[in-house]
Amino acid sequence: MIKPPEYGCQQCAKPMPKANHHGTLRCPDCRKAPPAFNHIKCAGIYQPPGSDWVMALKFSGHLHWARAMAELLQPVIKDIAVDWPLMAMPLHRRRLRTRGYNQAFEMTRLLAGFSGRQVLTNVLERNKYTAMQATLPEKQRRANVRDAFTVKHNDLPQSVLLVDDVLTTGQTLSAAAASLKKAGVDQVYGVVFLRSAG
Ligand SMILES: [Zn+2]
Repeated sequence: MIKPPEYGCQQCAKPMPKANHHGTLRCPDCRKAPPAFNHIKCAGIYQPPGSDWVMALKFSGHLHWARAMAELLQPVIKDIAVDWPLMAMPLHRRRLRTRGYNQAFEMTRLLAGFSGRQVLTNVLERNKYTAMQATLPEKQRRANVRDAFTVKHNDLPQSVLLVDDVLTTGQTLSAAAASLKKAGVDQVYGVVFLRSAG
């Protein structure tokens, strides 16, 4: 069953025990080092069957899973004003060339269709060809994403929804949000299909 965590951190949506939840609570990580994004919306926790769809979409070219993922994300963002446009987390062009598609963009364009939102393309560019974040220790992950993004436009909306398939530590999404904010965006919400439980 794929559904958002019942009790999550107000900022990063990390699942939290009900006993500690008082409505506005942020997790210890967000209190210690607040991420640059304002909020995370997710359709579920990283576990089967959703995690199998993610792998199939990302590594086996099964693009049809992007539709199922976008369908499950649509209700999660329905309360957000429809004039907040969508933007896909970019891949480095070398990775895009190897993979042939950006799984986040496949989800984004379908989600745009379902939700009647605009898609902003070619705004955010990934400068660094980085190792897969999941394979790196925490400290290295942070160094790895530093200055990883360039914003190529200055005519940006106040608020954007930045779409990715998975959120693990949130460092990549935070780095992208920081770049967008430096370029004048006021609010960045991350919209991810699945977020890790820890
Ligand atoms: Zn948090």
